[in-house]
Order: sequence, then C-alpha cells, then structure tokens
Amino acid sequence: MYPVPFEYHRAGSVDEAVALLGRFGESARLLAGGHSLLPLMKLRLAEPRHLVDIRRIPGLSGVREEGGALIIGAATPHQALATSPLVRERIPMLSEAAGQIGDVQVRNMGTVGGSLAHADPAADLPAVVLALGAELVAVGAKGRRAIPVDRFFLKLFTTALSPGELLTEVRVPLPSAGSGGAYAKFPHPATRYAVVGVAALVTVSARKIAAARVALTGVGAKPFRATATEAALVGQSPDASAVAAAAEKAAEGLTVRNDPRMDADYWRALAVTFARRAVATALERAG
Ligand SMILES: Cc1cc2nc3c(=O)[nH]c(=O)nc-3n(C[C@H](O)[C@H](O)[C@H](O)COP(=O)(O)OP(=O)(O)OC[C@H]3O[C@@H](n4cnc5c(N)ncnc54)[C@H](O)[C@@H]3O)c2cc1C
Repeated sequence: MYPVPFEYHRAGSVDEAVALLGRFGESARLLAGGHSLLPLMKLRLAEPRHLVDIRRIPGLSGVREEGGALIIGAATPHQALATSPLVRERIPMLSEAAGQIGDVQVRNMGTVGGSLAHADPAADLPAVVLALGAELVAVGAKGRRAIPVDRFFLKLFTTALSPGELLTEVRVPLPSAGSGGAYAKFPHPATRYAVVGVAALVTVSARKIAAARVALTGVGAKPFRATATEAALVGQSPDASAVAAAAEKAAEGLTVRNDPRMDADYWRALAVTFARRAVATALERAG
C-alpha cells in the first residue's frame, strides 16, 4: 500500500528540526532511519503530512567519551554502535546488542534515537540502556532536558518525549571497576526482533555481587527492570545457584504478553532462561 501524500523536509540543524515540528504540529513526524516509521506509513497506521528528516544533521551521529560517559548521538546507526572500537572497549554489551539487531541493512539504516523513541516492545536497545542506567537528552521549543531512562519508557510505543521534542543524545555512564555486562536474546526467526532479550550489568566486589541492573525486552508492553532478580543477586556470591535462583524471579511483577502462538507461561520460562544466561555471562566478564 502507498502512504498518504506527504511533504519531505530535510533539517540542517536541531533548531531547524524543532522549528519544523513546531510549525506543522501533529501533522509532522521526525524521520531517522525510516525502518519503523515507513512500514507504518505504508500500512496507513501512521499518516503524517510532513516528514522532518534528521539523519543528516551535523553532530547528531557518532559516539564520544566525555565526563565518565559515552555520548551517543541519536542519529547514530546501529551498525556504527556494533562496530565502534570505542564502544567495544568501554561498554561491550552495547556493541553486542546492536550487532544482533535485524540484519546488516536494518543496522545500517536504523538509528539509536529512532529505536528508543519508537519504543517497540520487542526492540533490543531499550532494555540495554535501561540496564546501563542511561540518560536521554531531548530538545524542544522549551529547551533541553535530560530524562533518566527509568522514567523514559511509559507504555506500549510511548515514551516521556513531549510532542515537538527531539531526542538528541543518549548518555551512558561507564560501568565502574569490577563490572561486567551482557545481552542475551532469543530472536524472532524472521525479523530478528527480540522474542525475549535480557540485558544485565553486575558489579562484583570482595567476591560478592555489589550491584545489579537487569532489564527485559519482548516479554511485556515496555522494557522492564527485573527488580526482584536484582534484589536477589545483590549480596550473594557470584555462583551458579545464586544466579539460577535470582533468574527465576525475572518476570516477577511483569504482565507477560500472551499470544495465540505462544502462551504467557512459555514466555515467562524464556525470560528466566535468558535472564540466567545474561547474568551468568555478565558475572564472568566482571571477573
Ligand atoms: C526487517 C526489520 C527487522 C528489524 N529487526 C529489529 C531487531 O531485531 N531489533 C530491534 O531492536 N529493532 C529491529 N528493527 C527496527 C529497527 O531497529 C528500526 O530502525 C528502529 O526501531 C527505528 O529506528 P529508525 O531510525 O529507523 O526510526 P524511524 O523509523 O525513522 O522512526 C521511528 C519513530 O521514532 C521517531 N524518531 C526517530 N528519531 C527520533 C529522534 N531522534 N527523536 C524523537 N523521535 C524520533 C520517528 O518520528 C518515528 O515515530 C527492525 C526493523 C526492520 C524493518
């Protein structure tokens, strides 16, 4: 199916993009990689009359290290995250997850900001930035603000971004010494979206788990922090039995999806299995 007719605008700067969003209001949508928006438009599930292309805005793409964090531009393609030597060295779980998104065409077109703003319940990066405790920076007509990731994902396909706001960067704090991270995923065989994905970041100190952040994607309507698993890990010795016991709690407090092809019990079982794998690998990497 063809989308409804629309006008294409290429923004040369963040300010210009914000001005265009202000001018066209609800009839405008930002366009980044187009890999989520264009399929929706072709199905007429989205009918914007103005597309504001932000992909070529100078400075909106790329990764740099600054002030104890990696700063990832919103228009950075997944493939750049997957292959960046800086990301691989400083926060390898980010590269690990980005490298598992779709296929190479999807990774070359899809962007970090597009994935986070779209908030697809089966997307990979939302869970990863949740486990990493990132901060998302948004710019709108009222200025710039930083949104902690714990407050960013509100519900299915809905984030804390206000109408007219543009996500410009993601600030991911560098994990402290003794930390390890991992992303374990059961991909859909056709699309590679996460049927279940689990991101884990753990810190080990004096042979005990001192801190843990564990986040799930694919299992509920939005990325979910497995706080029961986190609480069960902290204070334990990093051994297989502690990990298995904590992983059993991965879906505690989560309304698990139900699907005619896959019931909630099976989904819950996958969440437990992949939580166990992600946490065990993260602990190995923490040394
Ligand atoms: C075949 C296929 C397989 C895929 N497999 C996976 C997978 O395995 N895992 C996975 O996670 N994803 C997968 N995706 C999704 C892919 O990663 C998308 O690229 C991504 O979800 C959206 O990014 P985009 O840059 O294409 O955004 P777009 O499609 O351009 O935009 C998506 C939405 O976000 C808004 N938006 C975009 N950028 C910003 C911004 N900076 N600030 C505010 N709003 C913004 C747009 O207005 C739009 O509403 C797949 C997609 C396809 C087509």
